[in-house]
Amino acid sequence: MDDRDGLIWLDGELVPWREAKVHVLTHTLHYGMGVFEGVRAYATDRGAAIFRLDEHTRRLFNSAKILGMNIPFSHDTMRQAQLDVVRENALSSAYIRPMCFYGSESMGLHADSLKVHCIVAAWEWGSYLGKENMERGIRVKVSSFARHHVNVTMCRAKSNGSYMNSMLAVQDATACGFDEALLLDTEGYVAEGSGENVFIVHDGTLYTPDLTSALDGITRRTVFSLADELGIPVREKRITRDEVYLADEAFFTGTAAEVTPIREVDGRTIGSGARGPITEQLQTRYFDLVHGRLDGHPQWLAYV
Ligand code: PMP
Repeated sequence: MDDRDGLIWLDGELVPWREAKVHVLTHTLHYGMGVFEGVRAYATDRGAAIFRLDEHTRRLFNSAKILGMNIPFSHDTMRQAQLDVVRENALSSAYIRPMCFYGSESMGLHADSLKVHCIVAAWEWGSYLGKENMERGIRVKVSSFARHHVNVTMCRAKSNGSYMNSMLAVQDATACGFDEALLLDTEGYVAEGSGENVFIVHDGTLYTPDLTSALDGITRRTVFSLADELGIPVREKRITRDEVYLADEAFFTGTAAEVTPIREVDGRTIGSGARGPITEQLQTRYFDLVHGRLDGHPQWLAYV
């Protein structure tokens, strides 16, 4: 990823892609204390538009607040930086990665006199879990790793270090031949995917776990709105793994994963074993929305 043309926003300036480097003693590299976002821009009739840019930028600042990290730029500057990298790299669609991390001024857990650095990079990235799987659905394994307890890393923060847990779960799932992991919380209730929120459908109602051990996903919130517009009831509640096995439909949501159907969990076929009708409706509406083909929510598209 490091050897390519393009520009990356680093601490207020656009620098050549290959020169956007840090020292090996960068604090966040050692201890994982940092915050980031995953944002997407989509092609629309009016050019590239970043989906829910303000919400993603707000979550970046909220994550930093949870970690006690002071981002040395304003919301508006970080917002503008994301628009700038998409435009300056001439991307018609993009995955955008803002990140804030501690520098290499000192080592040790007290994090004294450390500077906070910020980057925003953007590149083209297709379907996270495979294009064909957007229709066919993915095979999921309930992970042997539990999702973070609220008092371990605090799940409202999208923090670098918490993704070690996600990566362990993904490694385990893929080593067993599955596409993705579904993590339970420390009490054994369904939490989320390694990088996605999860929904199930039972008798026409959508259910999703509350946010105790899951990220407050922006796609999750978007699905709440779309479901409301389609007249599909949504309930947040504790969900057990056997409820997932017995669901009529299941799907993951995330900026990278978008709306990805789940066709199998732990060898049990979900519903008919293909993308279900409610999942399809929500997925179609989601893509219409992000590509600017839907009236309503114009404030969710920031044109580049
Ligand atoms: N949970 C986790 C652990 C994630 O990494 C993500 C991706 N950011 C999500 C849920 C979904 O969040 P969003 O819809 O805001 O991308």
